[in-house]
Amino acid sequence: VFITFEGPEGSGKSTVIKAVQKHFEKETEVMVTREPGGIHVSEKIRDIILDEDSEIDGITEALLFAASRRVHLTEKILPALEDGQMVLCDRYIDSSLAYQGIARNLGFDTVMEINKIAVENHMPDLTLYLKLDPEIGLSRKKTNDVEHNRLDNEELDFHKRVVLGYNKLSELYSERIVTIDASEPLEVVIESAIDQITTFIKS
Ligand code: C5P
Repeated sequence: VFITFEGPEGSGKSTVIKAVQKHFEKETEVMVTREPGGIHVSEKIRDIILDEDSEIDGITEALLFAASRRVHLTEKILPALEDGQMVLCDRYIDSSLAYQGIARNLGFDTVMEINKIAVENHMPDLTLYLKLDPEIGLSRKKTNDVEHNRLDNEELDFHKRVVLGYNKLSELYSERIVTIDASEPLEVVIESAIDQITTFIKS
């Protein structure tokens, strides 16, 4: 089963994923990953995207994310799924739709088109959207921040558009995307993530 985690900065995705992994590892083999996922070419593409000296426009950024996504999918995600593992992936196609498509105004359709080429029909079985007010997210993130890169320069307005984008996606793909209130205490968020996955697997 292919499960993705989405949400704005500071929504707690990585902590929740670790806890979910720990829970399900007792019953099945679990692979946790995120783009670029240690795939050499994907890492190289990510370096270009994040380089403060890269003069790339929105479309180029979307194409690069899509290329990185594809190689991560073919080299890492698909083999794990074929092997019967539970795959937990931190960000996937919805990040591009929300960040490049909606927040950067490239348009949902354009980014969808680019990504359809990259992922073909390999959509997640289930997506957990950790929904959080961007003001809270950014203040949480500032306290944890270590490195700085090209994508960190965005204003609050940008992050508000990201969240609006995710909200729209969760309505559009309500059969796949489940929204979890990430303003709740972490234990509550983790518990609902585990509950949602358990319900999904049983259905
Ligand atoms: O929250 P996380 O550490 O996964 O975020 C990575 C960064 O990459 C975020 O700052 C986000 O702005 C950016 N990003 C993006 N477009 C994507 C995926 C991530 O701008 N498609």
